[in-house]
Parts: sequence; C-alpha cells; structure tokens
Amino acid sequence: MKEASFYISESGGKVKCLLCPKHCRIPDGGVGVCGTRENFSGKLYALAYSKPVALHLDPIEKKPLYHFHPGAKILSVGTLGCNLNCRFCQNFDISQQFEKEDFDNITEVSPEQILSICLNSGYKFVAFTYNEPTVFFEYMIDIAELCRKNGIKTVAVSNGQINEEPLLKLVEYIDAFNIDLKSFNPDFYRKICGGEIETTKRAIEIISEKKRHLEVTFLLIEGLNDDREEFTAMCGFLAGLDRDIVLHISRAFPRYKMDFDPTPLELINDFQKTASKYLNHVYAGNI
Ligand code: SF4
Repeated sequence: MKEASFYISESGGKVKCLLCPKHCRIPDGGVGVCGTRENFSGKLYALAYSKPVALHLDPIEKKPLYHFHPGAKILSVGTLGCNLNCRFCQNFDISQQFEKEDFDNITEVSPEQILSICLNSGYKFVAFTYNEPTVFFEYMIDIAELCRKNGIKTVAVSNGQINEEPLLKLVEYIDAFNIDLKSFNPDFYRKICGGEIETTKRAIEIISEKKRHLEVTFLLIEGLNDDREEFTAMCGFLAGLDRDIVLHISRAFPRYKMDFDPTPLELINDFQKTASKYLNHVYAGNI
C-alpha cells in the first residue's frame, strides 16, 4: 500500500488529511469522505494507488479539451472515488457506489506499467479522468513524473476541490487541466455537491497564474444552475483571469439522485451567446 501525502497525525491514532478542503479527521481503520484514503495504525494510505477501474484510449476532445493538441488520442486513467457527492453525478457508478473492500479485487497497474503501455503503443498523452483524480493524487503524480521524463504530456480533469499546497505540486507535472465549475453559487456547491466553491475558484486562479493550459466545463442543468446573473458573474470571473480560457457549456442528463429533463438545446445556445461576450472560446458540449 502507498502511504498518502499531505496528512498529519493527531492524538488517539487519528490522522487529518490535508489534500482537499474536507480536511477529514480519520480514526484508525476508517476512511475519508472520498472512500479512498484509509487510516491504518495511525498512517494514512492511498487505496486507489495503482488500482485503475478504467483505462481507455479516447479522443482528447472527449475530456473535453479543444485547444490542446486537437485530434490526439489520449490514454485515460480513472479509479474509484470522489471528494464530492454531486446529486447529479454523471459517473456515480465509479465515484460513489463502492466499498473499501472493492479495491482488493482490482488488478494493479503500476505507474511504470502505464508508462510501458504508452511507450509500447506510441501514446503521447495521458489523462487522469472519469472520477476525481485528486483522490488518487499519489498515483497521478507518479505517472505524470514518469511521463514528463519520457516526453509524454498529461492532463487532469478535476473538480478543483484540492488544497493549495498539493495543487502547486500538481501543476509542476501536469501540462493541461479541465476544471469543472459547477455553478457560481456557494449554496449550490454546499447543498447539491457537498463541496465549497472557493477552493475550485482558487484552483482555477492558480492554474491560470501558472500558465498551464486551462479549459473549464460548466454542466448546465435547467432549473438548477441556470441563474443568468450567477452565470454572468462566472464568465466575468474567468474573463478577469484570461479571456482565452476555453469554456465548455455541457448538456446534462438525469443521473444518480436527480431527475430532470436533459438540458434544452436553446438554453445551451443562449448561455453560449452570453459567455461569448466575455470569453474568446465558448463551446457547447455533450449534445
Ligand atoms: S482527499 Fe478524501 S480523505 Fe482527504 S480530505 Fe479530501 S475527502 Fe477527506
């Protein structure tokens, strides 16, 4: 088992995870909210390390990344777990519905084996995606470091719920990011996703400041996060960082705990027009 990074020991055998804003205090034998970090005798371990449940070759546009090596194929790696609990999660089968014991039944694929797959097959890009890669931080970093040494570029598709210190380490190794910005309303983040918006906004700021390639995805759900004023404020926030940040307005379909109609195409077109007043590159996706 791989010891986790970014945690501290506390009294009574507890540990406090410092990887994301949840700051879980985990007793001996317990796991954090993400289900992927376990306290074993006072040490924190990363259960998802070398345990991918999805390993596919995708078009890079599917991440979505439209302005980073368009036309390329990208080896996409995902594990179990997430540090959010979005009620509309589009990938809930791997992000939410699992037990700690499930990790025991997953075939190990080490970072070195991922590199070998890339070198043997001529793959030039690797994505950390499908579930939230922050919860397999150590696996992601180790793969990205090996890739960097071998001329392979890496991409993280993330909800941005990661603390500043680990994010600063991550941007050293990752070449491009797609960050989900789910709403511009703190209550939406708290009540619908179980997270907090400021961390994701700060992640976007840091990635932009560090000049990493950055695209942002907004999953538009009619009646839920379609407030015009909030969306306009979101576009203003992104444009204030860089008008060239690419924005994807993505169509939502009912999943997991929420039932709603698929986002009407007219609504997406309408939001795309609004965003285009602020940003130079706005795309409708998932349609
Ligand atoms: S990464 Fe997981 S264990 Fe760590 S603070 Fe976040 S939810 Fe808790």
